[in-house]
Formats: sequence, structure tokens, C-alpha cells
Amino acid sequence: MTQEVQKPLLKMLICDDDPGDRKLVRTYLQRMTDREIVLLEAGHTEEIQNALDKGRIDLVLMDNQMPGKSGMEWLSEITKRQLAPVIMLTGSGTEEIAVQAFQEGAVGYLSKNNLSKEKLKNAIDAALDKWARLQQAMADKERLERLANFDSLTGLYNRRAIFSKLYELINLANRYKEDFSLIMLDIDHFKKVNDTYGHLTGDEVLEKLATLICRNIRETDIVGRYGGEEFIIILPKTNLSSAWIVAERIRSIIEKAEMRDAADNIFSITVSQGLAGWERGEDAMSLIARADEALYKAKQKGRNRVQILLGPSLRDKV
Ligand code: GH3
Ligand code: MG
Ligand code: MG
Repeated sequence: MTQEVQKPLLKMLICDDDPGDRKLVRTYLQRMTDREIVLLEAGHTEEIQNALDKGRIDLVLMDNQMPGKSGMEWLSEITKRQLAPVIMLTGSGTEEIAVQAFQEGAVGYLSKNNLSKEKLKNAIDAALDKWARLQQAMADKERLERLANFDSLTGLYNRRAIFSKLYELINLANRYKEDFSLIMLDIDHFKKVNDTYGHLTGDEVLEKLATLICRNIRETDIVGRYGGEEFIIILPKTNLSSAWIVAERIRSIIEKAEMRDAADNIFSITVSQGLAGWERGEDAMSLIARADEALYKAKQKGRNRVQILLGPSLRDKV
């Protein structure tokens, strides 16, 4: 019995206002046997828009001269939105048009004057290959950016990203004379959690804690894992008294949250927090140091509490 080999499916869109040119391309495509090609045809603006809105397209052949929106404008839009790779088609192919097409993001270029089945096939193969490599490069870049800025266990910002966010925020706060607050949060007796329930459960506690924190702050707040079991929460446009309410809410929610290990043993944890309000002119290191000192005091006072340490300008007024 012969097994039918499934050919790769290629959904193509040809945008050309000349039915004769579309027919020529269709004829060539019908003679290509290495792929199952589905060809959509669009002769004017609405048809192109409809085809693009309808769903995934693997490759676009775009005539440079289109009525209404030009081929170059379509190319630019399709590329910007990363919808599909585009091969530019021209009737009177000049070098300038080719250069512009590649600058706008085309992955191929074909002149209709001396088009052949072979030329079309080669252009399609090269365009799909180039597109796949571009997509891969983008995915790699995204992965690297994620690794560079996010903590792999909790998905929160890492230490490096926290500093960069903090520098940004200090600039903004200086410029717009805004308040903001910073919380340094540390799990109480976390070593005991690891010792009692194991390191994997400890990791799960860190993940759950991250989720609980994120769920209970505003979208504009910034949370990061500063160290092992230490987290930083930055609250933009938030003064000390409002930040205190947030910190207390987080403390109380964490205290009540049920943690469990693999054997379904249920336990709870508590956290201590050091809170500091940014003061005009203060740098990142000084603010973090103050929150850290407040955290140390919270630990000394018996843990499971929020401690504030005022900066020099407020301290003088109290
Ligand atoms: P304190 O209340 O004074 O903060 O006590 P503690 O036990 O929480 O503090 P200590 O600094 O003595 O211990 C921190 C523990 O956190 C020890 C370390 O193994 C654990 N830890 C740090 N990072 C991780 C991690 O990624 N996973 C797990 N499971 N444990 C971690
Ligand atoms: Mg701790
Ligand atoms: Mg610690």
C-alpha cells in the first residue's frame, strides 16, 4: 500500500490589480508540485484588507503599482505588523524600487517582465527561508531579553532590571516632582521552610509569594526578586501613608495564605517589610539602603511586620 505523503501547505496572497498578471502567477504556482499552494487573490484595497484580516497568510506577493494604497505602503504595513513575508512584484523593475522594497522589509523581489516558473519558485523558497531565519532571530532576541531582565523562577524582574526601573523612576520623579515608595520584603525564617519541607517546596513558596504580591498591587507598580528570598516592590506616585496600606495588606494576605508541600502538608509563612519613601534628590542606593535598614528593624522587632524608616528631610520634621 502506498502511503500518501502530506505536502506542506502554503497559503499565499497575490495583490495585483491586473487580472492577467494574477493569472500568470496562478498558472506557475499550479505547476509547482513540492507544496500544496492555496492562492488568494486581491485586486484592490478592500480585497487586500479582507484577506489580511481573515487569518494567517504564509506569503504575500505584492504588486508595486496598486490603485489607492501603493504596494510599498502595504509592504510597510504588513512588515510592521509582522503579518507575513512579502515578495515585491514590479512591472518596470528599477534598482531604486528594489532597494526601497528591501528597506521597507521585503524578503524578496521579482520583476514581472521576465517572470518564469523557476524564478518564482526560487523567490518563494528564498523568501520563506529568510522569513524563518528572521522569526528565529526575533525569538532568540526576546529570549535573551527575558533572561537578562527577569528572574527565571518567579518571572519577576531580576536585580538588574529593578535597578534600571529605579533609575528611570527617580528621573521621572525628579522631573515631575512626584512621590514614590519602595518596599524591601523578606520571608521570615525561610531557612526553616527549606529544612522542614525541602528546597523544592521552598521554590514553590517563592513562586506563590510572587503571585500573591502581583495580585495585590497595581499594574503600574514594579516587583522584582532582589535576592534569594528578598523582594522589592516599587510603588510609583505613592506617598508613605498609601504605601503603608499596601504593605500591610500584602503582609496580612501572605500570613493567611495556605502553603502546601508535595505530601499536602499545609503551612503558612510570614514576611517582614522595610518601607521607605523616596525623598527629592535621593539616589537608588541610598533609598534601597534605607528600606533594607527598615527591614532589619522589622526583623529585630519580632518579624511579620512593616517598618518605616524616614529619610533625612522628614526625620528632621518629626
Ligand atoms: P530571617 O527571618 O532572618 O530572614 O531568616 P531566614 O531563614 O529567612 O534567612 P536566612 O538569610 O538565614 O536564610 C535564607 C534562606 O533562603 C536560606 C536559603 O537557602 C534560602 N533561599 C534563598 N534562595 C532560595 C531559592 O531560590 N530557593 C529556595 N528554596 N531557598 C532559597
Ligand atoms: Mg528571610
Ligand atoms: Mg534574606
